[in-house]
This record gives sequence, C-alpha cells and structure tokens, in this order.
Amino acid sequence: MADTIFGRIIRREIPARIEHEDDLCLAFHDVAPQAPVHVLVIPKRPIASLADVGDDDAMVLGHLVVVAAQLARTLGLTGGYRLVVNCGPDGGQSVDHLHVHLLGGRSLSWPPG
Ligand code: AMP
Repeated sequence: MADTIFGRIIRREIPARIEHEDDLCLAFHDVAPQAPVHVLVIPKRPIASLADVGDDDAMVLGHLVVVAAQLARTLGLTGGYRLVVNCGPDGGQSVDHLHVHLLGGRSLSWPPG
C-alpha cells in the first residue's frame, strides 16, 4: 500500500490532535470537522480501504468499532452519533488508509449526499 498522510500521522511526522492510541489503532480529530465531534479511527497496520480487507482483518476492524464506541462515550456523545467508512471514489474516500469517521455533537441528517 502506498504511504499516505495518515501513515505520516502514525509516525508523528506531522501533527494531529490524538485522542487514543493502542497497539492496533490511532484515533485523532479530523482536520476539517463536519460535526462538533469528528474523530478518525485508523488501523496502524496499513489497509487501503474496505475493498482490501480479508478474514485476517476481522479482529482489527472490530477493534476500530469498539474504540470508536468507547470514544463516543468519553467524548460525551450521549445523544447518539454516526460511524462512517467511505470506500473508493464512489464512496467519497479521499485518503487511501482505511478509517472510521466518528461524527457527533449535532443531529445528523439522512440520507447522506
Ligand atoms: P475520507 O474522505 O473518508 O477519505 O476521509 C478523509 C478525512 O481525512 C477527511 O475528513 C479529511 O478532512 C481528513 N484529513 C485529511 N488530512 C488530515 C490531517 N492531516 N489530519 C486530520 N484529518 C485529516
């Protein structure tokens, strides 16, 4: 997988507002937030997108969702929130390192654009 800006954040080559880190993932605030809370949860192991995952990735993908849910609690999203994973050009993915968006702090409309 080609290196991305998220790889550079993992390696601390560029700054980010980091909310959580463990052996498997990193969570940091989106630089262009679309809601009062907008955090990205990414695997440290580079996976380009959901189009690239296989059985071996089940544990890490589950971990990303569990961490996002824990962050939603610690960040006070008591009214609810949304997790989004954009995949590929039609899905609106702009960074080719798989990431879960955690969005909350306002009422979110549906369907998305
Ligand atoms: P996506 O469009 O689903 O690929 O989401 C990529 C997200 O990464 C967008 O919401 C961007 O605002 C965010 N982003 C891009 N560069 C950075 C950065 N240096 N730090 C934090 N978030 C970033």
